[in-house]
This record gives sequence, C-alpha cells and structure tokens, in this order.
Amino acid sequence: MTQRLEGKPVAEALDAQSRSAIAARPAGAPGPSLISVHRGVDSPFRFYLRRQGKAAAQVGIAFRDEPLAAGAGAPELESRLRALGQDPAVHAVLLEHPLPPPFDFYGAIDGLPPVKDVDGVGAENLGRLVAQRPEHVPAVALAAVAIARHYDLPLEGQPVAVLGRSETVGLPLALLLAGRASGIHATVSIVHSRTRDLRAALAPARTIFSCVGHPGLLDRSNVPEGAHVIDVGLSSVPDPGRPGVQLAVGDANAAALDGWAGSLTPVPGGVGPVTVAQLMASTVRAWQHLTAPGAIA
Ligand code: NAP
Repeated sequence: MTQRLEGKPVAEALDAQSRSAIAARPAGAPGPSLISVHRGVDSPFRFYLRRQGKAAAQVGIAFRDEPLAAGAGAPELESRLRALGQDPAVHAVLLEHPLPPPFDFYGAIDGLPPVKDVDGVGAENLGRLVAQRPEHVPAVALAAVAIARHYDLPLEGQPVAVLGRSETVGLPLALLLAGRASGIHATVSIVHSRTRDLRAALAPARTIFSCVGHPGLLDRSNVPEGAHVIDVGLSSVPDPGRPGVQLAVGDANAAALDGWAGSLTPVPGGVGPVTVAQLMASTVRAWQHLTAPGAIA
C-alpha cells in the first residue's frame, strides 16, 4: 500500500503559525506585506499569483501583485525592485521565475535587500545557505522538507536522492537536506540530465525528491521498491478526456508507483500548497526582522 502524502495538513499547520505570529503584534501596528512582481496577464505565473493572494488573505498578509507595464525591459524591472527594496511599507518581494529575455532575473533580484528576497533566490541568500547561516531559503525546498518531516520519512543519515540541480529548486533543496544548519543530515545524491544511469543512481535512495518537470519520469523501472517519493515536479499536460483542458501533473507516474513506492505526494495537492504556505511563513519572518526594534532594512 502506497501512502498518499497530502500537503494540506502541513500547509494548515504553517498557516496557523503565521496567523498567530501576526495576531501577536502590538495593537495598531501594521502587519506584513508581500508584493509579487510579474510580467503581466500572459504570464503562466498568474495561476500561482491567485494562490498567493488567497493564502495571504487567509493568514492576514497584505498582498499586492504588480504587473510590469507592456514593453518594460530589464532597466524598468531593476528600478521597480530597487524601489520596493527601499519602501519601508514593503516587507517581502517575490519575482516571477523564470523570466524570458530581455529580463535579467538575477540582476533584478540581487538589487533587493536580502531580507526582502523572500523566496531566497538571490546570490546572498543562496550563499548564506551554503555558509550554513540561512536567512531565506526557497519556499519550494522548505516545503519538500516540511512534508518529509511531517510524515517522518527517512532522512537523517539515510541515502536520499534529489533529481534536479537548478539554482532555485534542486540545488537549494539538496543543500538543505545535506546541511548541518537544518539539522537534517541526509546523505544526498544529486541526479541531473547528464546522469548516465537513473535507475542505478536512485537504487540506494530511501527518499527521493524529484524536481525535474518531466511527467512520468519516475516509475517502477527506476524507483526502488518501498522508497518514498516527494514529487516537486509540476507540468501541465492536455487532459485526454476533455479537449482544451490542461491537467497539472508531477514527475512521478502515480498509477505505476501505486503499490510499489512506500509513499508519494499527489500532484496537485502535495508540495504546491505547502510551497505557498512556506512563502507566507517567510514573509512573516521578513516582517518580524524588519520591524524588530532597531532593525535596518
Ligand atoms: P529547471 O530549471 O528546468 O531544472 C530541471 C532540472 O532537472 C535540471 O537540473 C535538469 O538537469 C534536471 N533534469 C532534466 N532531465 C532530467 C532527467 N531525465 N533526469 C534527472 N534530472 C533531469 O526546473 P526548476 O525550475 O528547477 O523546476 C523543477 C520542477 O519543479 C518543475 O517541474 C517546476 O514546475 C517545479 N516546481 C514546483 C514548485 C511547487 O511548488 N510544486 C515550485 C517550483 C518549481 P540539468 O541541470 O543537467 O539541465
């Protein structure tokens, strides 16, 4: 029997913590604010924006999404982020990722004070993760770990595989799992597109974190029997039964792994909702940091 690792209880526990931290502020003090900057109506990011707005309203964070003006390029994006970085009423900023040319995602995000880079993707936050002095860590990496911890999956001292090594997902997750500061101490293998033998690379793993974006990549041919799978991958594919409708799917072939894997996160309903809740929790942390007595932005 393969256990279904639902994200909902993990997200609810995080949201409850965020709500009580906000409720504990002095009477009349402003609560946290999160600004999400994106390309505008055509962006695939808009689905994520809706979820951000809903989650923020539920925990008590003031949320605003800021589309870039039509025709805006890298200089406008950089000056927008600099202005948000200097605005004392703004505690956290999220920037759509990935961004196509002519935008320079890292050029823009590195112009924010690291405390406001709430998804932890700027060079200073990633460097702090390597240095074992993390401030903000990408929400998706925190979410994958929060699910694994909630369901008590084998991590400490155990062979764990991370598929994917992007700067915003796979690599920070691998660092978090292997790191001393997180207290997880997993023995981590990083698997990527140049890995020659996926099955052999995954064979020792007791817990697998898949951050690739290839639907159906994981099945009985490469996942060891009994291994636990946290499916971070998120792709949209046409629904065969409903023309014109897209379905959200992960990297795992859930039907094939049912009865084979020890446990598996569903897509949707696994890592996604926890990622949004982690983003809210990181926004609350940024707000606490920026509004602490004597704080300098
Ligand atoms: P990305 O930048 O495209 O990186 C994909 C990674 O997968 C790369 O490191 C690539 O290796 C590796 N890869 C490609 N083919 C592979 C294969 N056959 N076997 C093993 N590794 C392979 O994507 P990303 O931004 O990291 O995102 C990864 C996935 O997570 C996407 O599906 C994204 O939608 C999803 N995601 C989900 C959430 C959530 O909340 N659930 C949040 C963020 C992202 P190379 O480095 O060698 O190219």
